[in-house]
Amino acid sequence: MEKTILFYEGKAKKVFLTTDPKVVMVQYKDDATAFNGLKKGQIAGKGIVNNKCSNHLFQMLEKHGIETHLIEEISDTETFVKKVEIVPIEVIVRNIAAGSLSKRLNIPEGTALSITVLEFCYKNDELGDPMINDYHALAMNLATQIELEIIKSISFKVNSLLREYLSDIYIDLIDFKLEFGRYDGKIILADEISPDTCRFWDSKTKEKLDKDRFRRDLGGVEDAYKEVLSRLIGAK
Ligand code: UDP
Repeated sequence: MEKTILFYEGKAKKVFLTTDPKVVMVQYKDDATAFNGLKKGQIAGKGIVNNKCSNHLFQMLEKHGIETHLIEEISDTETFVKKVEIVPIEVIVRNIAAGSLSKRLNIPEGTALSITVLEFCYKNDELGDPMINDYHALAMNLATQIELEIIKSISFKVNSLLREYLSDIYIDLIDFKLEFGRYDGKIILADEISPDTCRFWDSKTKEKLDKDRFRRDLGGVEDAYKEVLSRLIGAK
């Protein structure tokens, strides 16, 4: 299999078609954006960390029966994945209050939530990915009722598996974003799971090991990303 033409360029990744119509190649970039593209920058080595971190976690999830788009890592920053039709919904799962939830509902960051919270956002940059509920998703034909139920059930399972896995390497999973795709009539996990898309806090010091270091100009961004990857590689 070989990559052919550039198919899509996003904020953090390029996607190339390949000689196999059912496969695309994802290339992770060091480019970083925040606040819907308002803040732009580079994080040296981010492409490598996000590619390897995401593939590592997808492999762990696959071992536990979660189907993902992962096919094969082909270089430090490039991976072959199944060519899915992305469901235009971002799923956010929250264990601990942070970010937009803390702001919107005035719940201090770090407050444990009594139950895991799942939110849907409509994946639309022009609108700034507005939060929606199941009814909006159905009214806009973003997904079917059955697909929404499958997406919710996989998301909660991913949360349990990730939390348990990360706790062994002293990382608290505060919240994260997932995207799903349609492939061969099924819903499978797509996109990435990385410090760009999750809030990871060191479980002892509560130090932030994720994109909030970039968003909030906390410094030590590259080191935080590398720390997550090295802990993952050291894990079983
Ligand atoms: N997130 C993401 N992409 C987005 C929005 C959110 O990956 O477009 C992730 C974010 O990194 C965090 C979680 O989803 O881990 C919840 O984000 P939140 O709604 O608090 O928004 P933020 O504070 O990131 O703007």
